[in-house]
Amino acid sequence: MDEQDSLKSFRSKFHIPLQTNSNPFIYLSGNSLGLQPITAKSHIEQELEDWKNLGVEGHLHAKNPWLPYHEFLTESMARLVGAKPIETVVMNTLSVNLHLMMVSFYRPTKSRFKILIESDAFPSDRYAVESQIKFHGFSPETALLELKPRPDEHLIRKEDIEALIDQQGDEIALILIGNTNYYSGQFFDMKTISHLGHQKGCVVGFDCAHGAGNVPLNLHDSGADFAVWCTYKYINAGPGSLGGCFVNERHVTNKNLPRFTGWWGHNKITRFKMGNTFEPIPSVEAWQLSNPTIFSMAAIKASLAIFDEAGIENLRKKSIQLTGYLEFLINEIGSEVISIITPSKPNERGCQLSIQLKHADKNLFENLLKKGVIADWREPDVIRVAPTPLYNSFEDVFRFVTILKDQLA
Ligand SMILES: *Cc1c(COP(=O)(O)O)cnc(C)c1O
Repeated sequence: MDEQDSLKSFRSKFHIPLQTNSNPFIYLSGNSLGLQPITAKSHIEQELEDWKNLGVEGHLHAKNPWLPYHEFLTESMARLVGAKPIETVVMNTLSVNLHLMMVSFYRPTKSRFKILIESDAFPSDRYAVESQIKFHGFSPETALLELKPRPDEHLIRKEDIEALIDQQGDEIALILIGNTNYYSGQFFDMKTISHLGHQKGCVVGFDCAHGAGNVPLNLHDSGADFAVWCTYKYINAGPGSLGGCFVNERHVTNKNLPRFTGWWGHNKITRFKMGNTFEPIPSVEAWQLSNPTIFSMAAIKASLAIFDEAGIENLRKKSIQLTGYLEFLINEIGSEVISIITPSKPNERGCQLSIQLKHADKNLFENLLKKGVIADWREPDVIRVAPTPLYNSFEDVFRFVTILKDQLA
C-alpha cells in the first residue's frame, strides 16, 4: 500500500520525532499536535530576517508584507474548509473565536435562550458556552441542553439529534456541535444539522477543531452560520498557533449583528487615518481585533502550501484507507480487552479511532510509548490514535498494531 500511495512523498516534508535509538516514533497524535513541516522554519526565518533588516518598514516592505499578511492565508484556508474567501479568516485562537462568534450569534430571548451541545463536548467549549449563558443572565441548568448517547452506547444517534431539535428547537437559540467529536471521533453531518436547526429558527455553529485538515468540510455548502477551528492539530501549524473562523456569506455584511470590534476589523483603506468611527470590512475580516502574530501565520502559510499541493480530497481518500486498515488490524487481534468506539462507517468519522480499554489500564498506554508509539490517552479509559494521511504510512499502522498486540498478550 505504501508503494502504491501517490501521497507517500509528503511524509518527507515533515520532521518525525526520533526515539533515543534514533528510530522515528510511530506518531499517531496529529489530532492533538500536528508535526512540523520542514518549511515552517524558513517561513518563520523570513519574517525574523525582515524584522531584523526593516523594522517597522516590514509592515509594507517585508517580502510578505505584514499589514495584509493574513490575506496570504485566506484562499488556501478557504479551499481547505470549503468556504468562500469572504467567509474565511485566520485570527485569534479557537476559544477566543468561539466567544466572538457567540457575541454575534447567541442572542437569547426570554422564550429562546438554550444552547445545544454534545454531552462530551471539549471542556473549553462547555466553559465558553456556560459563561455566555451566565453573561446573558440565564442559568446553565435550564439553558444548557446536551445531546447524549443512549445508555450503554458511545455515539449520538442521528434520530436522537432530530428528535431533540424537533421537540425543543423553539427554545434553542444556538446549536453548537463539534463537527468531529474529539473523544469518540464521531463525525456529524453538518448540512443535516444546519437544516434541522434552521427549520426551527435556531442559529447553527460548529467547532471544527477535529475536522479542519482531517475531512473535507464544505462549510459554505453546509449552510452553517459560523464555524471555528484551530491550526495546531491536523493543520500542523505549531503549538498555540492562530485559529480559523468562518461566518456564512449571508451574515458578513449584516450591520445589525452585535460584534466586539478592534482596529483590524476596520476598513483597510481608512484604518490608518485613525478615525473614531468603526467601519467594518465587508467580510468575516470585520471580526478581527488585533494585528496578528506574523510568526504563527508564517507557520500556517508553510502548512497550507502542503495541503494545496496534496489536495484535501486526495488526502481524504488515503485517510479512509489508512484508518480502515487500522480498524481491520485491530479487529483481527480479537482481544476482549479493547473495543473501538468510533463509528465504523467511513463517512461518520475522520482519521481517528478511539480505542476503549476494559479496566482502564493506563499502563498499557504507557508501555506503548516505551515501545515507540506516540498516541493519546483520554480519561477515563480511551486511547486515541489518529493516522494522518500526510505523514503516516501503512507501515506505521501495521507496526503500531503489532506493538499493541504484544502488549495485550
Ligand atoms: C483543541 C480544542 C480546543 C482548544 O481550544 P484553544 O482555544 O485552541 O486552546 C477547543 N475545542 C475543541 C473542540 C478542541 O478540539
